Amino acid sequence: MSQNKGGEGDVFGLLSEGSVDSERRKNREALLAPTGVKEVFQEGVISINSYTCVGVQCKACIKVCPTNALYWGSGRIEIIEDLCVYCGACVLICQVDDCIKLERKRDNGRIEKVSKPIDVLLLQKKVNTNKRVQRVRSVVLKPQDYYAQYPETRQKK
Ligand code: SF4
Ligand code: SF4
Repeated sequence: MSQNKGGEGDVFGLLSEGSVDSERRKNREALLAPTGVKEVFQEGVISINSYTCVGVQCKACIKVCPTNALYWGSGRIEIIEDLCVYCGACVLICQVDDCIKLERKRDNGRIEKVSKPIDVLLLQKKVNTNKRVQRVRSVVLKPQDYYAQYPETRQKK
């Protein structure tokens, strides 16, 4: 289980150290291939608070994890970090706020932190809104392009 001890920069810096990083990536690719789950996030860290987790009565996170990264071992939820794709499904299903903490980095460098179902939902809403805005922008012409394409619509002074 990884823990963020020195701030987000340190965590992701440590994870991306040269050959250690490429070796780790290769291992992850080999482990994830049979699951058919694609990696969307560049990197991340996840931790589960075994004191607040209701454990044996719940195990919802184990059932929902798409890569089987979570399992019940030694009386608590354990994580196989190399199988975690930082999707956030476990945070979304967890009934205990701040029990599972997830921090992930997108390809564009943006860091996202979630530890409650509402965090995941709001983030998803934001991502969907951004996608919609980008789609609209891609089909709507800028004024100068519009006038170039339809010069007859330009008002004469
Ligand atoms: S973030 Fe996704 S892949 Fe990682 S442990 Fe949770 S459910 Fe599994
Ligand atoms: S979903 Fe949350 S409370 Fe339930 S077992 Fe997993 S970590 Fe514990």
